[in-house]
Amino acid sequence: MLFSRLLKIILGLTVCASSAVAASKPVKKPTQKPSSKPPITKPTTIAPDPRFAKWATVKKPKAGATEIYGGYAKGCITGAAELPMQSPNYTIVNLNDRRIYGHPDLVKYIKDLGGYLRSKKVPAILIEDLSGPRGGPVIKGHASHQNGLDVDISYTLPTKPLTLAERAQRPEISFVKDGSELTPAWTNRQTLLVVSAVRADEVDRVFVAPAIKKLMCEKFPTAPWLYKLRAWWGHQDHLHVRLKCPADQKHCVPQYLDPEDTQCGPSLDRWMKMVKPPAVKPVVQPTPPAKKFPTLPPQCENVVKD
Ligand SMILES: [Zn+2]
Repeated sequence: MLFSRLLKIILGLTVCASSAVAASKPVKKPTQKPSSKPPITKPTTIAPDPRFAKWATVKKPKAGATEIYGGYAKGCITGAAELPMQSPNYTIVNLNDRRIYGHPDLVKYIKDLGGYLRSKKVPAILIEDLSGPRGGPVIKGHASHQNGLDVDISYTLPTKPLTLAERAQRPEISFVKDGSELTPAWTNRQTLLVVSAVRADEVDRVFVAPAIKKLMCEKFPTAPWLYKLRAWWGHQDHLHVRLKCPADQKHCVPQYLDPEDTQCGPSLDRWMKMVKPPAVKPVVQPTPPAKKFPTLPPQCENVVKD
């Protein structure tokens, strides 16, 4: 009963990149008896919804006061702040798009986290996507990251700052093997990164792979922030930090998390089973359905206009 209730809560959430497709229809019961014949489907071309293009071509934030409209997966933002490219405390690794904008609180959070970790001898953390200049939906990848309160941070902690070429060619390193086991690359430094990221008051939740959540349940069973660390699809190479709606943002749509639900019990066991790779892999991956354009708050129509 408890699990099914938690599952309903979890299903209401949407998260980022690698989990975006799964987040829309995420949970199926683990297959008990894998078929001996792998399914074969032919990829087809599906025309994207043209409304995505409007958001993709916006080059700079909407001027004016900072205002968030809507939620994490159906929203936008005016007066977004830009995360500065240069800092000794962090490195922006996604150079090909301009997903370096967010609410000023998010930019401050990243600066503070990087500074704190550097003081603990952890070098410049690797920052992946925040939001576009005005937030909004993207055609590929993230379902969320729309209202300037989400950021992805790599678990990889380089020993020295990366060059431009290294940033561009950076491989995505998974820290999880077979869905349920951490690789030897995971060290106390990665644990410090996750703990430092999740415990801040302004953090609503942090998404990590189930294997990482399991480690945290074992290491920090009574930590007051444990419930904010959520097992989710993907997140084998990065964690996803989501801030709460700032107090002055009356149009921001918050999400709810039950502090009593630490997600360390049977529901985590289920997650560990669900993320195990199937015994028989499909020969050709089925083509995902065309991404649905979300129903944005009406104010976003004006936000995307010049
Ligand atoms: Zn994300």
